[in-house]
Amino acid sequence: MSAGKSFYVTTPIFYVNDVPHIGHAYTEVAADVLARWHRQAGDRTWMLTGTDEHGEKILRTATANGATPQEWVDRLVESAWKPLLDTIDISNDDFIRTTDARHEDNVKKFLQNLYDAGFIYTGEYEGSYCVGCEEYKQDSDLVDGTGEFAGEKVCAIHSKPVENLHEKNYFFRMSDFTQPLLDMYEANPNFVQPESARNEVVQFVKQGLNDLSISRSSFDWGIKLPWDESHVVYVWFDALLNYITAAGYGYDEEKLASLWPATHIVGKDILRFHAVIWPAMLMAAGVEVPHQVYGHGWLLVGGEKMSKSKLTGIAPNDITDTFGSDAFRYYFMSAISFGQDGSFSWEDLSARYQAELANGFGNLASRTLAMVSRYFDGVVPAAGELTPSDKAIVDVVAASVAEADAAIERLAIHEAVTSIWAIVDALNGYITEQEPWALAKDPAQAERLATVLNTATEGLRALAVLLSPFMPQATHKLWDALGVEGSLGALTAQPIREAGSWNQIPVGTSVGTLEALFPRIESAAE
Ligand SMILES: [Zn+2]
Repeated sequence: MSAGKSFYVTTPIFYVNDVPHIGHAYTEVAADVLARWHRQAGDRTWMLTGTDEHGEKILRTATANGATPQEWVDRLVESAWKPLLDTIDISNDDFIRTTDARHEDNVKKFLQNLYDAGFIYTGEYEGSYCVGCEEYKQDSDLVDGTGEFAGEKVCAIHSKPVENLHEKNYFFRMSDFTQPLLDMYEANPNFVQPESARNEVVQFVKQGLNDLSISRSSFDWGIKLPWDESHVVYVWFDALLNYITAAGYGYDEEKLASLWPATHIVGKDILRFHAVIWPAMLMAAGVEVPHQVYGHGWLLVGGEKMSKSKLTGIAPNDITDTFGSDAFRYYFMSAISFGQDGSFSWEDLSARYQAELANGFGNLASRTLAMVSRYFDGVVPAAGELTPSDKAIVDVVAASVAEADAAIERLAIHEAVTSIWAIVDALNGYITEQEPWALAKDPAQAERLATVLNTATEGLRALAVLLSPFMPQATHKLWDALGVEGSLGALTAQPIREAGSWNQIPVGTSVGTLEALFPRIESAAE
């Protein structure tokens, strides 16, 4: 991708009633790494996240807690969701709440447009609804209950009975979009990724789509339909629209044109909402469909999907309090193939922290800078003529930059880490082989020593740039210690796609001391 293009990336908006767990944080970090990469490449980048605040379940829990729904969601947003973003260093450009006026007002405009265009009609809905999922259920979505619910049909996800609804509802003519969606998937094979997700979506749509009930009248915590205020819009229909209401739909067409279409990062459990319902809604409204919907895998803990209903929820700060946010971000982006399910374990996290971060990257940084201090009074020396070993480092860095950028482009975040880590491994091998401590003992090798430490320092500079989207804190410390002018992350200092250019550190630059980037952890968390 060439610099200067637009990259608009979104996470799903958090359902405020949930308790933040590492599954939420995983999605946020992935989107944030992509945003930081593109930002540092000079692309016009915009990252959106936010909160989903309407629906019957929220009304019920607010009431049970003696609060109005608005008080309840305000409390959760401030006490749980905004703090999560700080815990894991998310650099979002915007935060939308579905209770924002900019959202509510423009959801109404969108609905009115669909209504006026004849895509919404009145009907009777009779069927099952799971309040836990906030989703209408087909019989095939239900299973036999056990324990206190033996003899009843229950939601397969929540293991609780569903409600039988019989309401006058408004329906969206989603069935009209079966063929247009199939044509769109065909014309744009990357619209849904990864491939397994795409296949599942295409198979689902091929069975033919039903019209979608988009309103509820039995409670009122939601956005009222502009033509019938006795109904509120279905919470998913409301929530999906955040991606365009935040971007200016209905009130700032110029902003919308500059940002849209977006890349949506979602968990695969909500893929159909994003890859089927959402583009159908947009087609009906005459708005361009998203650039891409990427369904990542589930985090498994002890073999089970992370979810609060399974009681395997781990709070992100359980991890960051011990290992720090950089390690959190690095671990989940490197240990799990993005798009596949992946297992989390404390043992694996702890082992990778020690081997890859402390011993691999952290130690490389601190010993290289320590040798510049010891042998050259802290001043980066000029390189003499490069030998094949030095040139090999230059080549590894150049190749890594190109490979990592290509990997980010196809959202293969873990492959980008692997490509960058080739530099860490190459530099550690180079220092072991070149033995600068032995060169330092022989005055005749002074120029050779200078070349080796210049090369290693340039390599570290490239690592600071390339790893900054993954580990913003450690790389800023390293950047400061390298003494390079300009702030890391500012495009003028270091465009990420040019991180492989050599001789970026002016000869004579004074390096500082570097505290341990990844300090030893005395007792691993349980
Ligand atoms: Zn459910």
